[in-house]
Amino acid sequence: MTPRELVSRESEIAVIGLARSGRAVAMLLRKHGYNVYASDVASSPDTGHCAEELRAQGVTVDVGRHDLERVARAGLVVTSPGVPPSAKPLAFARENGITIASEVEVALNFLEGPRIIAITGTNGKTTTTALIAHLLRGIDLEAVEAGNIGTPLSEIAMRDPQPKWISLEMSSFQLHDTPSLKPVVGVLTNLSPDHLDRYATADEYYADKARLFKNADGESAWVVNDDDKTVVRMVRDVAGHKFEFSLTKKADGYADARSGQLIVLGAPLLERTELPLLGQHNVANTLAATLAVMAADRSHQTQKARKGIAKAIKSFRSLPHRLELVGEFGGVQWINDSKATNVSSTAVAIDGMERPTVLLLGGRHKGEAYTPLADSVKRKVKRVIAYGEAASIIARDLRPVVDVVRLGSDFDEVMRAARAAAQAGEAVLLSPACSSYDMFSNYEERGERFRALAVKEG
Ligand code: ADP
Repeated sequence: MTPRELVSRESEIAVIGLARSGRAVAMLLRKHGYNVYASDVASSPDTGHCAEELRAQGVTVDVGRHDLERVARAGLVVTSPGVPPSAKPLAFARENGITIASEVEVALNFLEGPRIIAITGTNGKTTTTALIAHLLRGIDLEAVEAGNIGTPLSEIAMRDPQPKWISLEMSSFQLHDTPSLKPVVGVLTNLSPDHLDRYATADEYYADKARLFKNADGESAWVVNDDDKTVVRMVRDVAGHKFEFSLTKKADGYADARSGQLIVLGAPLLERTELPLLGQHNVANTLAATLAVMAADRSHQTQKARKGIAKAIKSFRSLPHRLELVGEFGGVQWINDSKATNVSSTAVAIDGMERPTVLLLGGRHKGEAYTPLADSVKRKVKRVIAYGEAASIIARDLRPVVDVVRLGSDFDEVMRAARAAAQAGEAVLLSPACSSYDMFSNYEERGERFRALAVKEG
């Protein structure tokens, strides 16, 4: 398949943002002979290094500024998930009627043959994406994970040869500008309000999630959460075959409370107790991933394939920063769930706790109230340590139900307070329900700091 021409060869493509996906897409476009201009407002050692690499490939690069006149003359503007839609170059492109495409949209154009399983949803995307690739490999298929999970799709598109299968995590921001996405199977894990710092309403956010189904036709296959009312409503009129999963009732994939088995497409797959991942939410993720792999091709539904899938499920290990047990020191468990950056994922984490818990909650507020945590907190949490920019809102929302200590933005102090509060037989849980950007570069750095301090003092 020859890629279609993205723009005429005389014009230029402007790539906004020089993080990993911006860099990859600029490289990919150069490889295919396009004229590329790339820019980033941030000037850091990382962007500087990236700029040097791109200049060596013939890309014109600005670091510390965007040349808006130049962007206005571009034939296409390519954006990365980290660039807010309000960013000047994007607003400028919209005003000038220039098409904006995500990095994923561009990369799709250069894929020749890989079959794509696309995953979105508010929570569980990354786990499900990694699990799908792992299960495909478990039945001897060549599969990689890409997209929001870390490896930009553009990097995969530059490989020679390209892999046979791609498990592609899509955020709502990526879906917004990826109109060509037409996966072999699309997975929607669940929906709840998130990113209200970038969307005016939850419905606007859901509308971007619904773009997963934009190119649905009679041949499409979808894996959807039958326990989630918002999901059920969204997919009601979508064309194609729907494979449903549920934790509470019979479905194409479900957890059978009576036999303790996970039942998939009418037959037992494995025992619930054989799952290595913690928490009920991971049963849902496992059902979703299994259905996606089986729905992708009939040959993945044979007895032999089912055995391979069950075996692969048992060998999957939890990803870092997701309900990860860092260690037990002096009888206190330290659990790193730094990836929980919204209220619903924190609720799941609290519900999964088996010991009285000191909960570290805080960071940059994303617009959601913390009151939906009240019931779970009442049952499991003995003290909340609220910190960072969101501390005062957290304290206001949760003081009626729990002891809240309000601190500032010194994470060492937060950890000292946690240590002082937790006794043997209890747990300290970092599941912040906020983004990390007020105090850290990203959630990984926050989780690493938690780990380092827990181990050091432990
Ligand atoms: P995402 O990529 O969508 O952010 P992850 O797989 O990285 O999701 O998980 C992030 C956090 O979300 C986990 O630490 C856990 O607390 C929560 N989570 C994971 N899967 C689910 C699910 N299916 N339903 C609700 N919460 C979940």
